[in-house]
Amino acid sequence: MTKNLDFYRNLPQKECRECGEYFEEQAESYLYECERCFGQKHE
Ligand SMILES: [Zn+2]
Repeated sequence: MTKNLDFYRNLPQKECRECGEYFEEQAESYLYECERCFGQKHE
């Protein structure tokens, strides 16, 4: 989970409330979930 610390420091990161993974903020509707979890819940 912490392979890319430099990458995480340099970008605005959100921590997924579902799986705990960090992800790059991409859209307002994704603010609290990574894209994967968001897709699983909203398909
Ligand atoms: Zn997630």
